[in-house]
Amino acid sequence: MRGYDPREIEARWQTRWEQERVFETADPAPDEATYYCLEMLPYPSGKIHMGHVRNYSIGDVVARYQRMRGKRVMHVMGWDSFGMPAENAAIDRGADPGEWTRSNIATMRAQFQRLGFSYDWSREIATCEPEFYHWNQWFFLRMLEKGIAYRAKRLLNWCDRCATVLANEQVVSGRCWRCDGPVRRREFQQWFLRTTDYAAELLDDIERLDGWPDRVRTMQRNWIGRSSGAEVRFDVDDSDLSIDVFTTRIDTIFGATYMALAAEHPAVKPLVADSEKQDEVNAFVDAQLAKNLEDRFAEGVEKIGVFTGRYAINPFNGEKIPIWVANFVLMDVGTGAIMSVPAHDQRDFDFATEYGLEIRPVIRPADSDAPDPQPPTAATPDYGVLHGSAEYDGLESAEACRRMAADAEVRGYGRATTTYRLKDWGVSRQRYWGTPIPVIHCEDCGTVGVPDGQLPVLLPDKAPLGEPGGSPLSMVEEFVHVDCPKCGKPARRETDTMDTFVDSSWYYFRYLDPNNAERPFGTDIQAPWMPVDLYIGGIEHATMHLIYTRFWTKVMRDLGLVDFDEPVTRLFTQGMVIKDGFKMSKSKGNVVDPDDMVERYGADTTRLFCLFAAPPERDLDWSEQGVEGCARFLNRVWRLYDRVADRLPAHGTEVPEVAGEAFALRRKTHHTIRRVTEDIGARLHLNTAVSAVMELTNTIAPLADGSDRNAGELAALREAFEALAKILSPFAPHFCEELWSRLGGAGFVLQCAWPEADGALLIEDNVTLVVQVNGKLRARVELPRDSDEDSALAAARGDANVAAHLEGATLRRVIHVPNKLLNLVVQ
Ligand SMILES: [Zn+2]
Ligand SMILES: [Zn+2]
Repeated sequence: MRGYDPREIEARWQTRWEQERVFETADPAPDEATYYCLEMLPYPSGKIHMGHVRNYSIGDVVARYQRMRGKRVMHVMGWDSFGMPAENAAIDRGADPGEWTRSNIATMRAQFQRLGFSYDWSREIATCEPEFYHWNQWFFLRMLEKGIAYRAKRLLNWCDRCATVLANEQVVSGRCWRCDGPVRRREFQQWFLRTTDYAAELLDDIERLDGWPDRVRTMQRNWIGRSSGAEVRFDVDDSDLSIDVFTTRIDTIFGATYMALAAEHPAVKPLVADSEKQDEVNAFVDAQLAKNLEDRFAEGVEKIGVFTGRYAINPFNGEKIPIWVANFVLMDVGTGAIMSVPAHDQRDFDFATEYGLEIRPVIRPADSDAPDPQPPTAATPDYGVLHGSAEYDGLESAEACRRMAADAEVRGYGRATTTYRLKDWGVSRQRYWGTPIPVIHCEDCGTVGVPDGQLPVLLPDKAPLGEPGGSPLSMVEEFVHVDCPKCGKPARRETDTMDTFVDSSWYYFRYLDPNNAERPFGTDIQAPWMPVDLYIGGIEHATMHLIYTRFWTKVMRDLGLVDFDEPVTRLFTQGMVIKDGFKMSKSKGNVVDPDDMVERYGADTTRLFCLFAAPPERDLDWSEQGVEGCARFLNRVWRLYDRVADRLPAHGTEVPEVAGEAFALRRKTHHTIRRVTEDIGARLHLNTAVSAVMELTNTIAPLADGSDRNAGELAALREAFEALAKILSPFAPHFCEELWSRLGGAGFVLQCAWPEADGALLIEDNVTLVVQVNGKLRARVELPRDSDEDSALAAARGDANVAAHLEGATLRRVIHVPNKLLNLVVQ
């Protein structure tokens, strides 16, 4: 007898797993059931944190469980290893980004291995290695060929602090999502991917993602942001210019009293060119563009604007309305130009009030003919009935929207249309540590894709970092100068690198075929595994990553690489790890180091606490006492087993007929098997699965008190310990291997079949069902909990009194409230 020594046990089993390569996944046999359990890959920032331990412990439970259920399981890990921290470490500390990254990977890999996660390390990928980013470049070229990748000059979000362009999705409340610094607008030549071509499909297919949390689906719907409305062209008076506006309320167009343009709108400069307003308007525009987005668009920012001196003509009534430039109009929404209807839009109302512009109501509630209040005190945004709108008077708003859009189309100045908030994905980054965009600029041939045979375009080993200005790669002469692949003349390489969201858009396909030198992955090789069965990661990836990867999959489908539309069947978003009320962070000083926990308590206890302390989707409140509780639990199982170990019957001995305490233990064992199976399999209620095993231990304890026990009791104990070793093994794998081996079990417990609950031992769980005939109580019958309607009906018919009341009658309807009531309606 020896005490529970996690350090010794864990090291020993990890070595054996590795020696026997138990986690390496071979290709499945035809028709073999597979399970792809995927966790979001980490950025190798230095050391793992508790959030990683939690995320990956959840995945490890599912992977191990599915393996024991007889599935061939893909469970893999890699590194999202391009990105800014490596570059910033280089700037701050003179580190070499490649060395810094690879050394962090080595540290974190060792930490993961110390936790006993069941990854197939032979499939490990790192996105910063040419073997991986080669295929980013290959995909980019395919998208260039199909017109999905294109280059355009755009005003983009620019973070001074990170010296980089940010996608809209990377701007959070007007600030940089990474550094929280201010964001402003600057114009650049940029590479884009046409995510908007897929906007409708990305939105519509959300309906099919029924294995995704509602919250994520809602967030995606909002990001894609479809609005249906109409586009209407307003000609500019005394000019060849015209301006398109998008409106969801064309029914209010007779109430439009001015037009407002975003400061970035391309018509602004031509409108005021050489006019007396030019200086004033340009000064306003410059002042707006110099501001960061937060200052421009935050709630409560005063609405200001400037009159251009020009007028637009409302095509519906020929009326001239003044054109303003206003700070509340976003270039990213609709067309960047709006028709302002102050009577029916509060924002327009506030602005009109400020600048003394006309407010003209044209919609009235359907049930009222009261005159509009004079002067109006607030906008009335609701639908109603039109007035003051010529031939459309008396129409309801919805009908008016349809008819006016149709009329605009017939008359050639508008149409019904749909716009999206989602914009094309800007993938250019003016940074070093990323995938070089595989394009060459030639004076004669223009933009030329690097031929496939010349891929990968290798990232140079060194580049000047932290210099202000353009991309670091533009300062590496031997990188920039290249012969044009078409005409052979001297040309220049593109020096932007790709957004790292490109890497994460498809990395999990590469695990399936990590050594393929011809293609990103073999179509036949991915087929048995995809789509991913379960994807686990943080809610913070609900929009960017999880929209980009859906987009990428649809592009791969259109390239003929895959034959499905959506990459992930079930998505699970785990909660954060918090301590003292805050997310663990260095600045809060509340970080718990996983190494420290593993050193003190062992990997199994650390994992067990992460899984037991909260439902996986909720935030987990770190508690040292809780960790100690989990350590005590494992120690207790160990001691209980020690007390009876040398008396248990041999492994494989059949359990005889038993009664009393032994029977109660058998029932508890089988109930626990069923409970844990359901908790892991269907619901991911991992915390309640652990507490079920703890309850089983409470039933084991009185029998394992060291006193003399009969053969039946000892057999029931063996059965309970064997079941425990199996069903707890996904949570505390090393502990359970040791227990299994001490029980005399063959091989690894992780390769055992998952135990089946014996139905005959579950019947304790009966309920009493009230049986009514036409609403009158006729019987109470006992039957197993959660019986279906057919079984309930059969049990009811078996009752003599019920049978008597059914005789000669026709059963019209059955009302079944499971576990409670069965009402039979007869005639
Ligand atoms: Zn920043
Ligand atoms: Zn050329």
